[in-house]
Amino acid sequence: MIALRDVLTQSERGGVALGHFNVANLVMLKAVLTAASEMHVPVLVGASEGEREFLGTRQLAVLFKSLREELDLEAFLNADHTHSIAKAVEAAKAGFDAVVIDFSALPFEENVARTKETVEAVKAINPAILAEGEIGDIGTGSEIHEEAQNGFKSLTTPEEAKQFVQSTGIDALAPAVGNMHGMLRSMVQGTTKKHLNIERISEIKEATDVFLTLHGGSGTDDDDFRRAIAGGINIVHINTEIRVAWRQSLEESLAREPNEVAPYKILARVVDSVKRVVSSRLRLFNTPPTNEARSPVRREAF
Ligand SMILES: [Zn+2]
Repeated sequence: MIALRDVLTQSERGGVALGHFNVANLVMLKAVLTAASEMHVPVLVGASEGEREFLGTRQLAVLFKSLREELDLEAFLNADHTHSIAKAVEAAKAGFDAVVIDFSALPFEENVARTKETVEAVKAINPAILAEGEIGDIGTGSEIHEEAQNGFKSLTTPEEAKQFVQSTGIDALAPAVGNMHGMLRSMVQGTTKKHLNIERISEIKEATDVFLTLHGGSGTDDDDFRRAIAGGINIVHINTEIRVAWRQSLEESLAREPNEVAPYKILARVVDSVKRVVSSRLRLFNTPPTNEARSPVRREAF
C-alpha cells in the first residue's frame, strides 16, 4: 500500500489537498470512508484523544484497517491532537498512520522539547509514521461557540515555524493562519465564514518546506480554501461541520419515525447526511486549480 507521505506529495503536485475528517462513532467512520470510496480520492480519518477514548484506540485501528481493505481505499488513520508521549506511543503501537503532537499550549521552548521527544518515540515504533507538530493558538473544541474565543489572534510567523520544524524533526506543521477550532453559531447558519491569511501560509511554506495542515477548517469560505491549498496547505481538517450534520440528521431521523427502534434503520439516514457533507468538502479539496498549468492529478474520478 502507498505511504501517506507519497500520497501527500502527489496531491501537492496536482494542486489538491487531503480531506481530514474526525470520527467519534461507526456512523461517521462509514460516512467518511464511503464518501472517499465513491469519489476515488484519498482521505484521512482522525480521532482526537476524546474520540479515541470513546471508540477504543486499538479497536478503532482494527475496524479502520478492515474497512480500508474491503473498500480498497487510500485511507489513513490519524491520532489527532495528542497531548502526551504515552498517548502518541499508544496510537503508534495500535497502527495509526499519523499523529498530531500537540503541545501548542506550552511555551515555545517547551513545545519544541516535548514535540521532539515524542517524534523520536513514535518513529522508533514506526519510522514511516507521519509526525505533525503544532505552534500558535487556534482555540480548542470542535463545537459551536456562542462568541469568538479570545487570545488566538496572533499568527504563526515564518521564523518560528522554521525554527520549530528544524528543531523537532516533524513531517507536517499545523500553523495558526487565521483558522480556529469550532464554529460560531452564525457560521453554522451560514451567515458568516472564516477567512484565512493566504500570504502567511505561503510564507510559512517557503520557510519550512514541510507538509502544512489546516486545522479548524469548518465554516471556512470556499475560495479561501482554494487559495490556501494553492499557497501550500496539504491537509484540511473538518470536524464541527460533520458533527453538526450528525446531530441534525439524527434528530430528524428520530422525529420522522417515533416508533422505530432498529438502530440501523434510524442511522442509515444519518450516514447519508454526514456523507453528503464529507463529499462536498472532498470535491472542493480535490478539484485542481484550472487557471494555471499544473501537472495532471493522479485521480480523475468526477
Ligand atoms: Zn485540530
